[in-house]
Order: sequence, then C-alpha cells, then structure tokens
Amino acid sequence: MSLHFFSQTAYLQRWVSDQKRLGHSVGFVPTMGALHAGHTSLVTRALEHCDKVVVSIFVNPTQFNDPKDLLHYPKTLPSDTDKLLNVNCHAVFVPTVAEVYPDGPVSEVWHVGAVKDLLEGAFRPGHFDGVLSVVKRLFDMVRPDIAFFGEKDYQQKLLIRLMAAQACPDVKIMSFPTIREEDGLAMSSRNVRLKADERSVSVLISKALNEMKNGRPEFSPEELVQKATTMLNAAPSVRIEYVTIADADTLESISSWPADNKPLRALIAAWVGNVRLIDNVEV
Ligand code: AMP
Repeated sequence: MSLHFFSQTAYLQRWVSDQKRLGHSVGFVPTMGALHAGHTSLVTRALEHCDKVVVSIFVNPTQFNDPKDLLHYPKTLPSDTDKLLNVNCHAVFVPTVAEVYPDGPVSEVWHVGAVKDLLEGAFRPGHFDGVLSVVKRLFDMVRPDIAFFGEKDYQQKLLIRLMAAQACPDVKIMSFPTIREEDGLAMSSRNVRLKADERSVSVLISKALNEMKNGRPEFSPEELVQKATTMLNAAPSVRIEYVTIADADTLESISSWPADNKPLRALIAAWVGNVRLIDNVEV
C-alpha cells in the first residue's frame, strides 16, 4: 500500500477524478496535521464509508485569532505521513498557503445563523469565518463525496453542516465521537504543549464534563455548571472561558431540563497554562 502525496491541486484533482471515473467514492478528512489517534480514527471511519480517502494537512492562517497560537502550532509532517500509511489512507494533500489562498489569506464572512457567534465564536472573533472559508475552499479543491469531522470540535461540526448545506450541497458531512487519552483528556494536537504539571491538571476538563453528564436529573443545569466551574477553578493554572449546558443544535444555554428528549451538550473551553483546550460531551 502506498500513500499518494499531493501539494498541487491540479494533480490531486486529476487523481480524484480518476478514482471517480473508476467508480470509487472519495472520502475527505481535513486536518491541520500533528496527527493523533483522533485524526486516524476519522480516516478509519472514512475507509468504512468510502473506497478512497484523502487527508489534507493545512495549518490555516485565517482561523487563528492568536498569532502566537499559529506560530507554535506543532508541525510533524514525516510522522503524520507514517501514521496515514499505517491506517491505509490513500492520499495526503499538503497545499501551501498560496495554493489555498491565491489572492492572499483572507476569509469570507459566512451567514449561517446565530450558532457562529456563541461560545468559540464569542471568544475567538473571526475564527469560524476562517474555518468555514478554508473548508469550503478545500471541498472545492478535493471534490469529495463525503467529508468527515470530529465531535471534539462540536460547534465547528454544526457550522460546517450549515455551510455545506448552503454552499456545497453535493458534499455529505459525517461526524464521529471524540477519541480520548486513557485518563479522559480529549486528544488534541495542542496537548503536546502542556507541561507535565499542566498535563495532569488538564484531565479536570473531561472530569467536569462527566460530572455534568452524570448529574442529570439530580441537579439543575445551573447547579451542574456551578459544580464544574468550582472543580476547574480549584486548579490555579486553569482559566475558564466558558462552561455551559446547551441545546445541542442551537448551543443556547439552558437553565432547566427540557421536558422532551431534546439532545443537550455540555461544553467547556479553558486555558491550562498557555494552552487553550476545548471539549464537550452529550448530556
Ligand atoms: P484539527 O487537525 O485539530 O483541525 O482536526 C481535524 C479533524 O479532526 C477535525 O474534524 C477535528 O474535530 C477532528 N479531531 C480532532 N481531535 C479529535 C479527537 N480527539 N477525536 C476525534 N476527532 C478529533
């Protein structure tokens, strides 16, 4: 088995159209590299649904509202391609910034409703316009049948579905659960930047989420958010941005349990030292 390597869109498109001509469906997993088992799980899911799978590795400058975060984003291309080979991925696409943004790295403004401005949208201005712009561009470049996303970035997944329905209705969107370390920490490319003591504290995020999940219906949503907040604040290196229990579709916070079985989500964003972590669970 070999891994096709593309950095230019024209060559990738020729390969993708050859696959389609042969009757193969093409799955696509967009990533920013520094691959871990969360990413490779998406490749494995993609291989279950599609004949051929393309992964992109592109650290998208337009979605970083913090220049330091962009500067320090881990880059590990040789080990990334090894990991992709090991899970039988067919092709990797590693475009340059100029290839993705021929007119310079600027994002378009997306009108996809109120979800864009909540939570991550409120704390990272412009972030989702950057994400939606790059995903739309990558869809146009790769032309997949199905694209695969992780629920680790839950709000992003909701917004990509809205964007795709609006701008790329031919691409089907599928999403899959978060892959975690043994102690519960959600896998993330940013975890390697945690110092040893921060790494042990970071487990509090998934613990707090599980407290909220398991506290229903004994405690009210507000009490559970308070408990989770107290848990996180007990660690001096943690700085909370948000803790919420929200409607799983609108991401509006709830203050009492709904009478129906409406899906709910608990979501947290917090800094541990200099690393910003996000995680979420179904409640
Ligand atoms: P990223 O490289 O962080 O942009 O992530 C690329 C894709 O992998 C996105 O769809 C993420 O939601 C997904 N992803 C990242 N971390 C995980 C994880 N721990 N489990 C499952 N999917 C993940």
